[in-house]
Amino acid sequence: MDQYDIVVIGAGAAGLTAAAFAASQGHKVAVVESKTAGGQVSNIDSIDNFPAVASGTPGYEFGPLLQEQASEAGADFLLDSVESIVAEGAAYVLVLTDEKVRARAVVVAAGSTKRALNVPGEESLRGRGVSQCASCDGPLFRGLHVCVVGGGDAALSEALHLAAHAKQVTVIHRGEAFRAQPKLVERLEAASNIQTLFGTTVEQIDGDTLVTGVVLNTTATGERRTMAADGVFVYIGLVPNTAFVNDLLQLDDLGRIVTDVRMRTSVPGIFAAGDIRSGSVAMLAASAGDGATAAISAAGYLHAQTQ
Ligand code: NAP
Repeated sequence: MDQYDIVVIGAGAAGLTAAAFAASQGHKVAVVESKTAGGQVSNIDSIDNFPAVASGTPGYEFGPLLQEQASEAGADFLLDSVESIVAEGAAYVLVLTDEKVRARAVVVAAGSTKRALNVPGEESLRGRGVSQCASCDGPLFRGLHVCVVGGGDAALSEALHLAAHAKQVTVIHRGEAFRAQPKLVERLEAASNIQTLFGTTVEQIDGDTLVTGVVLNTTATGERRTMAADGVFVYIGLVPNTAFVNDLLQLDDLGRIVTDVRMRTSVPGIFAAGDIRSGSVAMLAASAGDGATAAISAAGYLHAQTQ
C-alpha cells in the first residue's frame, strides 16, 4: 500500500491549493480525484472574482493551472474515487475503488454536486434539454427558448451566459426577490432577452425525446400552466459530496463538514476545505484560501506528531 504524509480528496480549487502548499513544504502528497482537475470552476465560462486573475478568464483554463502548480510542487495524482476512510492507529487508510492508500493526515476537499429539482421529467430528459452546465450546453440552444431555475448567484450568472446564445431566457424563481449579488441582478434586469417569473415553481418537465416545455405553478394563486421551452437549466444550490465520511466526521444540518477556523474537523488529522465545509461562502477565492489553511494546519499536525 502506498504511504503518504497527506492525501487530499478532491482536485478543485481547495484541494489543489492544499496539495500545492503541502507538497511545497516537503510533504509527500497525493490528490485523489475521479474526474478532471478544477472542480466546479471547470464549468464556469468566465472567472470574475479571483484576485489578480483577469476578469473573463475561462474556468477551464484555471483548473489545469492549479493542477500544474500542485504537480510541480511534487504532488501525485490518483484518478480514483474514495469509498471510505478507516482509522488505523495514528494514520488513515483511504479505501479507493481500485486500491488502498495510507495517509498520516487527510484533507477532504471533495466539493459539492449541483442540487436536482426532483420533478418528473428531469432525469429522463437530462442531456436532452435538461442541463446543469450552461458553458457546456449553452451553444446548443442558439436561437431557442431556455428556462433557468433558481435565484442565487449560479442561476443569474448562468442565465446571463445563456442569454448570449438563446433567443429568450426565462428565469423561474420560487421566491419574490433574488438572493444573488446585486451586480448580477442589475445585469439580468438590463438584458433585453431575459424575463423573470417570481413566486413560481417548476412541477414537471415535459418532452418525449427532447424538452418541449415546463409545467409551472404560481405559488400565490396555485394556478398551473404549461410554458413551451427547449431547455431547462437547474441551479438551485449545492449538495456536499460527503457520502464517504458520513459516519466519521461531524456534519451540520446541511450535511457539510464542521470545521474550526484552521479547517480541523471533529477527527484529529482530518481537515476539510472548500464548499464541502460548514460555513463556506462557496467562492473560488475563499476555497483556495481554505485549501492553504488546511495544508498549513495539516503540516502543523504532522509536525506535532513527531515531537
Ligand atoms: P444558493 O446561493 O444556495 O441559491 C439557491 C437558489 O435556489 C435560491 O434562490 C433558492 O431559493 C433556490 N432553490 C433552492 N432549492 C430550491 C428548490 N427545491 N426549488 C426551487 N428553487 C430552489 O445556490 P447557488 O446559486 O447554486 O450558489 C451556490 C454557492 O456558490 C453560493 O454560495 C454562491 O454565492 C456561489 N456562487 C458564486 C458565484 C459567483 O461568485 N459568481 C457563481 C455561482 C455560485 P430561495 O432563495 O427561495 O431559498
